[in-house]
Amino acid sequence: MNIRRILPGFVGILFLAIVPVLPVPPFWITLLNNIGLASLVTIGLVLLTGVGGLTSFGQAAFCGFGAYTTAVLSTNYGVSPWLTLPLSLIVGAVIALPLGLITVRLSGHFLPLGTIAWGLALYYLFGKIDLLGRYDGISGIPPIKFAGYRFLSDGSIYYLIWFFVIVVAIGAGNLLDSRIGRAIRALRGGGQAAEAFGVNIVRAKLTVFIFAGVVAALSGWLYAHMQRSVNPTPFGLSMGIEYLLMAVVGGAGHVWGAIFGASIVLVLKDILQRFLPDIIGTTANFEMIVFGILLVLILQLSRDGLWPLALKLLPKRPPRPVPASSRKLAKRTLAPAGSPLLKVEKARKAFGGLVAVNDVSFEVKAGQIVGLIGPNGAGKSTTFNLITGIASLTSGSVFYEGQPLRGDSPRQIARHGIARTFQHAKILPDMSVLENVALGAHLRGSAGVFRSFFRLEREEEATLLAEAATQLERVGLGQYRDRPAGDLALGQIRILEIARALAADPAVLLLDEPAAGLRHGEKQELASLLRKLREEGVSVLLVEHDMGFVMGLVDHLVVLDFGTLIADGQPADVRRHPSVIAAYLGGVA
Ligand code: ADP
Ligand code: MG
Repeated sequence: MNIRRILPGFVGILFLAIVPVLPVPPFWITLLNNIGLASLVTIGLVLLTGVGGLTSFGQAAFCGFGAYTTAVLSTNYGVSPWLTLPLSLIVGAVIALPLGLITVRLSGHFLPLGTIAWGLALYYLFGKIDLLGRYDGISGIPPIKFAGYRFLSDGSIYYLIWFFVIVVAIGAGNLLDSRIGRAIRALRGGGQAAEAFGVNIVRAKLTVFIFAGVVAALSGWLYAHMQRSVNPTPFGLSMGIEYLLMAVVGGAGHVWGAIFGASIVLVLKDILQRFLPDIIGTTANFEMIVFGILLVLILQLSRDGLWPLALKLLPKRPPRPVPASSRKLAKRTLAPAGSPLLKVEKARKAFGGLVAVNDVSFEVKAGQIVGLIGPNGAGKSTTFNLITGIASLTSGSVFYEGQPLRGDSPRQIARHGIARTFQHAKILPDMSVLENVALGAHLRGSAGVFRSFFRLEREEEATLLAEAATQLERVGLGQYRDRPAGDLALGQIRILEIARALAADPAVLLLDEPAAGLRHGEKQELASLLRKLREEGVSVLLVEHDMGFVMGLVDHLVVLDFGTLIADGQPADVRRHPSVIAAYLGGVA
């Protein structure tokens, strides 16, 4: 354990622990309690919105479910709050599941609009149900008791609230720093690369949605027992908007930024409510206007919120070493060399009137490097997309080891051991080079949310990271391991994508123009890497422009022009083919 890594957190916790015993005004503690409650909701939003890219205005409703569950059970039925705690969380999760199923399928502006819709609807629902006391709500909620002690005062429930905040913050950080977390973080860019490596996108979105719902319900449970009464007001849309602002102000991508954002927004609001009436001489809601202007200014100052600015003031944390791993990941048994592996049969793809791939057939045998060449727009990348399930076939079929892949999703196709790179590289620029590669090994791990949250998957995670590090060394990017992937040059990013594909332990590698942007020496290294992979039994389908690069490397060459296959055979023969010379080599020949 590195002291410099844990010191800031240690100081923070120490500060929180001693505040209540310092001679501070009582309203400080109330304010800190409210910050803690809001932080819980905001941490959920950081994962949902900041990391997962799913904007929700409706999180306050989940606080309502947590709060009303315990309010009803502990007042009407005398159930102990400790029993209602898991029940409140379960209610949050059970409601998040169908709401999430509807919401995460929405895209663009419809997604936040959808959350506004159910956020509003649930608020009115709370106010209409007799069991929940309609708009008057429920009062007389018992305090939480622990070993005979009653958490009655603001100063005592304070510790309970902040205990949960710290547990949830650490757990959320653990979750992001795991196999599941990489899948969640990959949602942002649309998730296409993640899907190509076996991530179930809908499931990853649902996971964060439910996580956010459950931590909001936890906040509601605490709120109900702090306030000892509940009514619908704090669970409406305006609170939902405020939570989202906290996440954005703090810096929507950072777990600890959630606490920071909640603190800034609530302290600011408190100050404005306190002093503004004196300054402008009325008690109208002017603070909301000043509040809004200040928030716009803050966001002008730093688009990523204020946490990244605050981080600059903290001592810089050194990158973590890749943990040593004794276990080895299981390797796929590869088909014997020469056996039929990937077969494209009369594949056709039409985009409206444009036939991008026109009844193309070819085959990749195990242990072969097959080149797929053709001028720009010939349909090479589309062919890749048809094989990997990103695009659906208009007609024709793709077979893998004799089985048709028809209708399989990219995720199912990845399971067969078909791994790819993209012509327009799809990496996660903010994630480290190592983590980008580790995403490729997604299907080789199995740890879920629970184990990741409590850091019980460290051994598996270590093997995945060790595998990623091995592949990085193999492609020659080892020295960039801890850098953000966005720092790499374009050619290096292509190589990074190859390492990511290798981390999937592929049977077939589909490389879309991997040598573009590489210098001569780097191309030589890439060629020898591909030869080495072939020796190991991995098959490669290679889209390439550089004829020199392809000729010396491939066993078989397929040439496309305007979507149609015009030649298919040994490189030397294909090169002499008249239509190839006309279509592709043109003036060069
Ligand atoms: P290549 O990779 O050989 O350069 P592509 O497969 O990218 O060619 O494109 C083949 C043809 O299909 C091009 O004319 C391109 O404009 C068209 N095309 C590719 N993707 C789409 C799409 N999603 N929608 C419409 N047309 C597309
Ligand atoms: Mg292309």
